Amino acid sequence: MADLAPDVETRPFWDGIAAGELRLQRCGDCGRAVFYPRALCPHCFGDRLEWFTSPGIGTVYSYTVARRAFSPSAGEPPYTVALIDLDEGVRMMSRIVGGDRVGIGDRVELEITRLGGDDSPELPCFRVVEAI
Ligand SMILES: [Zn+2]
Repeated sequence: MADLAPDVETRPFWDGIAAGELRLQRCGDCGRAVFYPRALCPHCFGDRLEWFTSPGIGTVYSYTVARRAFSPSAGEPPYTVALIDLDEGVRMMSRIVGGDRVGIGDRVELEITRLGGDDSPELPCFRVVEAI
């Protein structure tokens, strides 16, 4: 994660994280949300993708507990990595922060944080706000 290198397609996403926002794309042709950032809609192949700011609310689809860190910027293991279905209809992989307990179906909200100390990158993580 220390070698995050935004390119022309992902720069607006990372600019959003730096501004404290989760920015996603929406297709101007079919209206569906898109993640990860890209130039063409994966649903209809339209090229009119526009950025919008997501509230960053979603539901845990699945998760796992990592017991070995892949990078110093990932923080200290063990930690929870989850697949999160955002309310806009896109799925993203992220970290669960703020506690050990997480379950499938839990509601989560965005928490942008640095996982590996002050010089690690700010990353979009999630916190459980409603456990089922
Ligand atoms: Zn589309």
